[in-house]
Amino acid sequence: MSTSKQTADAIIVGGGLHGCATALYLAMRGVNCAVLEKDYVGRHASGVNAGGVRRLGRALPEVPLADTALSIWRNIEDLIDDDCGFKSLGQVKVAENNAELSALKNRAKTVQDIGFLHEEIIDQKQLRELLPAVASHCIGGLYVNGDGHANPYRTVTAFKRKAISMGVRIFEKTPVTEIVRHGKNWQVKSPSKKIEAPIIVNCAGAWGGSIAAQLGDYAPVEAQALMLMITARMPHFVKPVVGSQGRTLSFKQFDNGTVMMGGAYQGSAEPEQNNTHLSFNGLAKNARAATAIFPIMRQATIVRSWAGIEGVMPDNIPVIGAGSADGVYHAFGFSAHGFALGPLVGKIITDLIDGGDIELPIDAFRIRRFSQNKDI
Ligand SMILES: Cc1cc2nc3c(=O)[nH]c(=O)nc-3n(C[C@H](O)[C@H](O)[C@H](O)COP(=O)(O)OP(=O)(O)OC[C@H]3O[C@@H](n4cnc5c(N)ncnc54)[C@H](O)[C@@H]3O)c2cc1C
Repeated sequence: MSTSKQTADAIIVGGGLHGCATALYLAMRGVNCAVLEKDYVGRHASGVNAGGVRRLGRALPEVPLADTALSIWRNIEDLIDDDCGFKSLGQVKVAENNAELSALKNRAKTVQDIGFLHEEIIDQKQLRELLPAVASHCIGGLYVNGDGHANPYRTVTAFKRKAISMGVRIFEKTPVTEIVRHGKNWQVKSPSKKIEAPIIVNCAGAWGGSIAAQLGDYAPVEAQALMLMITARMPHFVKPVVGSQGRTLSFKQFDNGTVMMGGAYQGSAEPEQNNTHLSFNGLAKNARAATAIFPIMRQATIVRSWAGIEGVMPDNIPVIGAGSADGVYHAFGFSAHGFALGPLVGKIITDLIDGGDIELPIDAFRIRRFSQNKDI
């Protein structure tokens, strides 16, 4: 097959939410971008996740980012002409005993100590008002008003559509197989295409470590297969997204009555084959956690379950920022909670490329934290 050679101002590797959003923000600043996606846009984590948009329980370095991202979600239609199904019905983490409630109180205080007041402790009466179907032994929780959820595939598709309307070229079925320096440019090769640009952004998700290695950086990203399942329609019994302090659980009910359950239960991932395998043991544990918090779930019928491949870092926070070599930027390894940050991180990368000020603290996400000599 003959390869066509093209140029751009910036090449983005990976057509997930972070790749498409980065391309859109760059195009809005007049940068000529090309996105190379080995499968199709939204094929992996960005299209198959649980859609949770939360500040609740974030790792501390992510709290300012999640807070700013939420302000973009609230007006997402202004950015990409689609509300992405975003619903702001709150998120709550349930405590089943005093030890769990006390841990949640400590957590709320820690977040307040860094200047954020969104996590509030609720008592048993408030919990019951918020979640009338919650099990009677639950004694309170940690609540964030304003958090919510959105439709993931619709979101990534809306970013893709808007980016294309701004002139971004998106090449699907175009795996990046080699990246080399070519003068001041990065030359990116795939079986059907050669394209070069002075700037390259690694948004390759669970595959981000191998792209980073080709760009002279090291990041030990692990591909995990996070599982979700969904029930047949049930009577409406819950509005906020619900988690649990003592169990692994993320739980929400959609407008059509179906209930989605997850919470980081893992199957097994074969990223090189684009393949995942479910763990029915893990799904059963997930279902048991749901019935413990909501007894009504004993009536549920599971109709579908799946797993998506996600890039997870050893410290459970992503890589965001410049690489070691000129023109290299990374945004990958979102460790099971990157959907909520999707509309923001592309803007941060665009600001970095533009040489402008970054108002948010991003040092904790630097790729060099994984280098043996952290000062290089
Ligand atoms: C089941 C599940 C539930 C989740 N629930 C939530 C949630 O509720 N809330 C939340 O905030 N987050 C959630 N997440 C995490 C979230 O989905 C991810 O953090 C986020 O989507 C990562 O986006 P991304 O663009 O970095 O990666 P991806 O969506 O994986 O995109 C990376 C893309 O790069 C492409 N690529 C890789 N290598 C190459 C190459 N060599 N050449 C070309 N293209 C390449 C891949 O094909 C892929 O499409 C969940 C994830 C899963 C799997």
